[in-house]
Parts: sequence; structure tokens; C-alpha cells
Amino acid sequence: MNMELSRRQFLTGAGAGLAGTTLGALGFGDAEVAYAAAIRPFKLAGTTETRNTCTYCSVACGIIMYSKGNLSKGEKAEIIHIEGDADHPTNRGTLCPKGAALLDFVHSETRLKYPMLRKPGSDKFERISWDQALDRIARLMKDDRDENFIQKNNDGVTVNRWLTTGFLAASASTNETAWATYKVVRSAGILAFDNQARV
Ligand code: SF4
Repeated sequence: MNMELSRRQFLTGAGAGLAGTTLGALGFGDAEVAYAAAIRPFKLAGTTETRNTCTYCSVACGIIMYSKGNLSKGEKAEIIHIEGDADHPTNRGTLCPKGAALLDFVHSETRLKYPMLRKPGSDKFERISWDQALDRIARLMKDDRDENFIQKNNDGVTVNRWLTTGFLAASASTNETAWATYKVVRSAGILAFDNQARV
């Protein structure tokens, strides 16, 4: 039998156990059994737990996403509940209001899931592939840098600045990704560099 018990499982079990024991101490022996049976069909039973990181800000709180639907049987998995990960060292189960609303974010009709392009003169966005998006971004960045890169200022001092393009990175990325992103952006000469957490 697997005796590993997470902090979250312990707290859940301890809470249910305390309620059941209290009922028993008050003389409601059957109620204790009924209580245990009642929590069995809990809404998360049969769901798949997936650990992830909240996407909103650089605090990077740990979350657990619960999904229903067995992909191996051809079913469509759908996330039905998201909560803070009690075993995560950063947030220990807590979430701020933005993190607590992640489920709405996931199911939002206006959520951006793919690269979208609005061509010059068009009034609508159309879906393009990731390859198309990355090729287009690389092409536009290269052309803009070639045209606007400032190697020396008016006094002849080497500055290597590229002021006509900015870069928005992701604050919820790993340290390694952030380090690589910073090096690429600064090496290219970009000064306007930020992320969604404004840190
Ligand atoms: S938005 Fe809130 S829940 Fe999400 S990482 Fe930041 S502090 Fe944590």
C-alpha cells in the first residue's frame, strides 16, 4: 500500500476525520458512517490531477488542475477545477484573486490559444501556424534592426542600441528561460524590455 501522504491529503483527511469523530463523540455513530459515505462521491473523484504554475505573475504560485475525461479512451479532457497546491513551497495552497479565477480564464471564449494575424488593410484576425508566426516575427525584427540599429552616438561613442523594437517576456518562465531571454534581448541592443508582472 502506498503510504505517501501529501500535506494537502493530510489536511483533507484530518478535516474529515475531525468532523466524523466529533459526530461520533456526540452519539451520532451512524452519522459518522453516513458522513464518510457522503464525501466519497466528492466532485473531484475520478479526476486527473495535473500540477502547473499560475500564468499571471512572477510569484509563480503552484496550482493543481483537475480534469475529467480519459484521453486514452478518446474522450475530451476538460478542466473542471483549479486550486492552490498545498505542497508548493511558494504559496502553500493559497491563491490571490487572479489565481483563484484561473478556471474562468481557461474557459474564456476570448482566450487567445493560437497565433493570430491581422493583415494590413484587413478588419479581422486569422489563425496562422506557430512556424508562420515565428518566421514573420524573425523577419520583421531583422529588417527593423538592420534599418534602425544605432552603433555610435553623435559623439562617436559606441552604444549599440536598437530603439525601434520592444520585447515583452513572460514573468512566469523559469530562471533559465528568463536568463536566456535577457541575454538575447540585450545582446540585440533592445532597451525596451518588460514582462506582464512589471518587475
Ligand atoms: S497571480 Fe496570484 S495566484 Fe497567480 S502567481 Fe501571482 S500571486 Fe500567485
